Formats: sequence, C-alpha cells, structure tokens
Amino acid sequence: MSDPVRAGRRQSILRNLDAHRTDALLVTALPNIRYLSGFTGSNGVLLLTERQPVLFTDPRYEIQAAAECDCPVRIAGKGVAEEAARAATRRRVRRLGYERNRISLAAFETLRAKLGSGTELVPFDGLVETARMVKSAAEIAHIRASVKVNSQAYERTLRMIKPGRTTELDIAAELDYRMRRLGASGPAFDTIVAVAERSALPHAQPSTRVFATNILLLIDMGAFVDGYASDMTRVVALGKAPRSARRVYSAVLEAQLAAIDAIRPGVTAGQVDRAARRVLAAHGLAKAFVHSTGHGLGLEIHEPPRLGHGDGTVLAEGMAVTIEPGAYLDGQFGVRIEDTVVVTADGCDVLTPTPKELLEI
Ligand code: ZN
Ligand code: ZN
Repeated sequence: MSDPVRAGRRQSILRNLDAHRTDALLVTALPNIRYLSGFTGSNGVLLLTERQPVLFTDPRYEIQAAAECDCPVRIAGKGVAEEAARAATRRRVRRLGYERNRISLAAFETLRAKLGSGTELVPFDGLVETARMVKSAAEIAHIRASVKVNSQAYERTLRMIKPGRTTELDIAAELDYRMRRLGASGPAFDTIVAVAERSALPHAQPSTRVFATNILLLIDMGAFVDGYASDMTRVVALGKAPRSARRVYSAVLEAQLAAIDAIRPGVTAGQVDRAARRVLAAHGLAKAFVHSTGHGLGLEIHEPPRLGHGDGTVLAEGMAVTIEPGAYLDGQFGVRIEDTVVVTADGCDVLTPTPKELLEI
C-alpha cells in the first residue's frame, strides 16, 4: 500500500527529474531513502522511477524493510548497487540520475560497470535534501518532541554536577543515558562537554578533565526521537563567572537574539548570519566567531540550509534550523548559545524551552 505522504514526496522528485529529462533516480543517501520509502536500515538503495519505486537491501533487512516500506523490496544477493543497475537496465532507463554528493566511489564504479550501454548516468547534487528543507506539520511535531527530550535530559543532568569530582566524560555519559531514558534512540551526534579553556574548541571531545570552580562549562547536545534531530548548546558557570566571560556571554546572547529576530519567510540564510555577525563585530568579537550561524536539521543533524556568510537560500515557512553564534577565545574560554527554531508565516518559533540567562551552579 502506497503511503500518501511518501507518494507525494516521490512525485515531486520525479517532476524535478523530468525537468532535467531524466527517467529515474538512484537514491543512495540513507536519510533520503528513509524520507522517500520509510526504510530505516543501514544498507540499501532506492530506485525511483515513474513506474514504481523499488528498494534493494540485503537479507538482514528482509523482514524489517517489508514492514517499513510502502514500495516493493528486493533482496540483493550481489550487492545493492549491482542489482539496482541491472534493474535500471531491464527497465530501459535511458538517463539515470544519481546523488553525486552522497555516493561512494565503489558504488559509483559498480554502477558504471553494470549499467547497460543504453543508460547514461546524470549527476544530481542535493535534489532530495532540497525537498526535505521544508518540513510537514508531522515532521515538526517529531522535531518538537526531540527538542523536549533533549532539554529534559540536560536539565536533569545539570543537577548532578559536583565541582571537584565530576568530569567531562561523566556528564557526557549521563546526558546520553538520560536522553535514551526519555525516549531518544540515541544522541544525534557525539555530545560535547567542555570546561574552561577547552570550551574554546568548538567541537571538543569530552575528556577526564575534572570540573573546577569559577570557570565556564559548555554543553552541545542533540537527540534523535522518531528519526528527527534536535540540537542545543548552553554555557553555564561553575561557581562564579569571571567578568570577561560575562561580557562575552552577553554579546553572544545579543547576537543570538538578533539572528532569531531576523528570521522570517523571504529573507536569505546569509541575512540571518549577518544579523548575528554584526552584533559580535560591534563587541569586537568578529574574529572570535569562527563558524556559521546555524544549519538545517531534520532526519540529519546537519542538512540544508546552511546559515552562513553570503548564503542565498531563501527561508520559507516550515524550515527547521539552529541559531548558534559563538565566540572562542584561545586559551581562555568559549561561549555558544544554540536553539532549534522553526520558520513560521511571520517569523519563527523557538522550540528550545531551556532558559538562556547565564546560570551559576
Ligand atoms: Zn549543537
Ligand atoms: Zn548545531
């Protein structure tokens, strides 16, 4: 039985292929396969054609794929790329699209070797990802549930910190455990817990570093709930925050609020980024802000649009993005404040409920 939501998604991709005179698309990115077929396994390809989509996977997923997919499933004995290539040849596909940004070289070479001579390969970049940018009400509900689990895990874990005893790894493990207990399938990325000068590393790995007092603690965490990601960063002071840290914190918060204020349908991702960057520059922190202001999220933790310098993507109602400006002072500390938001008809809805004033614990 065809699922009407997925059938609609597939129709829209097929229309797009048609505009490029392409008969079929071989979908190799797992989140895109999930979006278009429902399959959540770790090995598969989806052949999307006008006639009927087919999912190719291996025997481990025979039962699962049949239950999840609303399209025929073929168990590939010789590898999914090879079987899909043979099927495309059998169906006399003349121009077969493939996901250039999401295919392994090995799969591409198999495809090229096994396709019949009548089939031409046509590269596409981000075709399905672009379609995924605007979320349905059901998808937003999943993201909202994920955000809620994430914030609850954070708030419960904060109470367990004991300066002088707790380590970064203790807190990272506790956060992951709490989110699973609250209904997450797992963290959406490796949880970041970084104290003192380690918070100046935007992607620090948690270590055995013990929490001291009168320093900053940065936590960046996300959950997967119902397949959808959340993402949040908070910075708290262990003990009393040094005056320099307070100053940077309030500048980053001002930048974050300015970026949130700039979001509405019709503005570009680059304009939102500029709103945050302008505030940090006014505080002399332009050079300390070393990454983009945010990113889309959904079935993946990082997906389009990217809210970076000069990005021309026009925001639309239903897009889910993060807003996460930061300032990093080498050898001292770093501050980042990140919420998950959804673009609405006249602005945006900040989903993250966790307070943003600088907490001293
Ligand atoms: Zn994050
Ligand atoms: Zn993020």
